[in-house]
Amino acid sequence: MPSSVHIVDHPLAQHKLTLMRRRSTTTGEFRQLMREIAMLMLYDITRDLPLTYQEIETPLAPMKAPVLAGKKLCFVPILRAGLGLVDSMLDLVPAARVGHIGMYRNPATLDAIEYYMKVPEDIASRLVVVADPMLATGHSACAALRRLKDIGVENMKFACLVASPTGVAAMQAEHRDVPIYTVAIDERLDEHAYIVPGLGDAGDRLFGTK
Ligand code: URA
Repeated sequence: MPSSVHIVDHPLAQHKLTLMRRRSTTTGEFRQLMREIAMLMLYDITRDLPLTYQEIETPLAPMKAPVLAGKKLCFVPILRAGLGLVDSMLDLVPAARVGHIGMYRNPATLDAIEYYMKVPEDIASRLVVVADPMLATGHSACAALRRLKDIGVENMKFACLVASPTGVAAMQAEHRDVPIYTVAIDERLDEHAYIVPGLGDAGDRLFGTK
């Protein structure tokens, strides 16, 4: 069974992605919109987290109240654009841990090359949300998931804003156990492996480097 693809179709997420796509959107606006969409995405990503019941006391009475049970979360942004998704995820789940994986793509082969990795020691016992705004060729995402599986991570979800059909197919071929959450699946990749129509270079737009 291929990995499931969840389209985050909440009207607010769809609207905000359109604002991000616009050429005229400034760096500051782009960054803020990415934070806002990430929060809406995490709402969907965490929808199936298990709950347990805990005895608490309100100012008026004791009660059994729901709290999160089971696995804790770890967010793993793929550097550098993935950083734009993580801060607001942490606003929603402040106890989550954060790991980082740095990947760049070889411009000639488009292969993903890892240049940095630092993750929490107990990552294998957590639900890991790997975040990268653009799922283009899928090379970086697949390589990051491979690395995490190599160190024992079994429970992962992948979050992006825009996916290409190529990226989704690559993920489904190699990581059928990892659900993909995306706000949109666009038409195609261009000859430089940019997503069309996409939103441009997410890292450059996020950090104002171009
Ligand atoms: N990375 C980006 O930032 N944009 C794309 O369109 C593809 C990969």
